[in-house]
Amino acid sequence: METYRAEIPNNFLLPRRLKRLGELAYNLWWTWNPNAQRLFIEIDRDLWERTNHNPIRFLNQVQRAQLNAVTQNHYYLDNFDRIFNQFDDYMNTQDTWCARNHPEYNHRPIAYFSTEFGLHETLPIYAGGLGILSGDHLKGASDLGIPLIAVGFLYTHGYFSQRISEDGWQEAHYLRLNFSDLPILPITTIDGEPMTVSVDLPGREVKARLWAIHVGRVKLYLLDSDVDGNSVSDRELTARLYTSDLESRISQEIILGIGGVRALRSLGYNPSVWHLNEGHSAFLNLERIREMIASGHTFEEAKKHIYASCIFTTHTPVPAGNDEFPEWLIDKYFSNLIPELELDREQFFSLGRNPNPWGSTFSMPVLAIRMARFRNGVSELHGQVAREMWRHLWPELHVEDVPITYITNGVHTGSWLARRLGSLFDEYLGENWMDLLDKSQTWDAIEKIPDAELWDVRRHLKRKLVHYVREKGRDQWLNGSIHPVQVIASGVLLDPYALTIGFARRFATYKRANLILRDLDRLLDIINRPNMPVQIIFAGKSHPADEPGKMLIQEVYRIVKKAENGGRLVFLEDYDMNLARYLLQGVDVWLNTPRRPHEASGTSGMKAAMNGVLNFSVLDGWWREGYNGRNGWAIGRDSEFDDPNQQDEEDALSLYEILENQIIPLYYKKRSSDGLPGDWIDMMKESIRTLSPQFSMRRMVKEYVEQLYVNALQNKVIEYDILD
Ligand SMILES: *Cc1c(COP(=O)(O)O)cnc(C)c1O
Repeated sequence: METYRAEIPNNFLLPRRLKRLGELAYNLWWTWNPNAQRLFIEIDRDLWERTNHNPIRFLNQVQRAQLNAVTQNHYYLDNFDRIFNQFDDYMNTQDTWCARNHPEYNHRPIAYFSTEFGLHETLPIYAGGLGILSGDHLKGASDLGIPLIAVGFLYTHGYFSQRISEDGWQEAHYLRLNFSDLPILPITTIDGEPMTVSVDLPGREVKARLWAIHVGRVKLYLLDSDVDGNSVSDRELTARLYTSDLESRISQEIILGIGGVRALRSLGYNPSVWHLNEGHSAFLNLERIREMIASGHTFEEAKKHIYASCIFTTHTPVPAGNDEFPEWLIDKYFSNLIPELELDREQFFSLGRNPNPWGSTFSMPVLAIRMARFRNGVSELHGQVAREMWRHLWPELHVEDVPITYITNGVHTGSWLARRLGSLFDEYLGENWMDLLDKSQTWDAIEKIPDAELWDVRRHLKRKLVHYVREKGRDQWLNGSIHPVQVIASGVLLDPYALTIGFARRFATYKRANLILRDLDRLLDIINRPNMPVQIIFAGKSHPADEPGKMLIQEVYRIVKKAENGGRLVFLEDYDMNLARYLLQGVDVWLNTPRRPHEASGTSGMKAAMNGVLNFSVLDGWWREGYNGRNGWAIGRDSEFDDPNQQDEEDALSLYEILENQIIPLYYKKRSSDGLPGDWIDMMKESIRTLSPQFSMRRMVKEYVEQLYVNALQNKVIEYDILD
């Protein structure tokens, strides 16, 4: 029998015929089914935009007359019934890829832990790529019928929204989330009390309450320490993502790892596989060992057992990016736990010790590596980098034998593909292309799409982007939230017919947002040639504590703001999943210029590719695997440099050269027969055909299942692989 409740509130005042819209609002399935979104849009498009695509706010605010109107509209009602049939089929079918191929998983859940989940713009519990990957992983697992359950945080203040001051300085604005507007379900006991778990922090017990989110068939459980009984400062522990204060951070990670295991236990789960997305949740292994020791096992037995079922995915290619704590802090937070694990202090520290030249630290990735039999990076090159970085943990092995493998990231097609392109694919790729989207044969049919139809959709998507940006700029201007000198920089002069390049991502220095600005005179020459205009749109946030990142935004913004750019360089504020969709679907070229090999994978270029946008990137992360010489452009060489300055210089020269002599002429070269840029469209088709299957979440999740989860489920321990 159930021991808890998580009920969908039924408080919307809806006509009986439309009652089920309330249910749809509480399952994020609608976020990756554009036709389901139409059920809201067709009631009141303006309200849908004003509520930032939030169906719960929408249903709370919509006028009764508008609801009544659609109940008289047969077209709407037919569509309504069709969508709910699809939804019911999706939720209830027993015939999934997982059930057909891996029936051994029935009732054997896989626990997936991550500090952030990027599921939709209305749920700001993600900062960037890592979160989007976790969100897409849940959606992909749901589509395939994988019995995944996920654990993360409900950050009460979410990630910040970004404003740029007149002088280009990033301002971070935090708003307390209004939980009643979000698709989150409070979990209560049978008696209706909020369900909580608790963890020990120095001198006190801290409680966290539990929430659930339905992501299709997958459930995501979120922890939140803002509960009665906790001190004021403990209530703030889960308020924000990635605080730089070490004590808050270690407390967060104890809540996630140890509290997360306790949460799953109190909900009645006994996962057979545990997947750690990054090392932040690695304390969960200590809790699993503690549980086993409490039930009579030795430390060694417990470690062997948990090791065999644990998977650790690393995303961090630079040592400085790793999450680690000074040993005094570990003493402070774990002195009570150490004896419970039947270890002495030294044995405990050796579980996570990273012998840095500047002194030993307790490293979360080391703890994760030592406790996980399966370890992987997120692209082929990143796998190599990770083996190099951690080879000191296996001093007796050659670097190529270090047991860290890789699974290249992917993206969730339904979430990122423009609706109009989806319709075109429905027409030409066969009705069930979505179920076969990781097969390369499915995409051979791209050739059948007439160039004019594809180009029409591309033009539509660019107009949509330009319209959105101009309206946003106009609004900001009208409501006085920007200074007059910022108006042009906000994109009001964008041209819907000019070749448009997008650069949007987190502003960390290794991403080199300023590379294309390195020789500004040359760039301005290139983008202002007669009849061949080029415009560049920048967007991105920097972590609030990352001063060099914020200075990079300022450097880019100051250049963008200059009058002599004539509005051809633009910076858009507040990059999030919504703006990402507009950009990734609307621009012509997606630019990525990381300093190799610092981009573990990168995923935005994959989203761009499926939308017919051409990638123009450094051969790092995923692009090194995706680029085939005919499906986009590569900046620089397939190798690294010792001197970062020389690397920047060569990459910038390569960038200008290709932009000037290949990209711009190809875009503006029209066929005389029909006036379309035929060679460009050919390259676009090659890009969609080759990249969409290979970098799909469907391919990625299947690889996790078949290369890692299945082996972890078998629970066999390979002795040599254990690190002592
Ligand atoms: C996809 C995405 C990212 C990650 O993009 P990268 O290519 O890894 O930089 C970050 N933020 C948002 C909003 C995204 O949609």
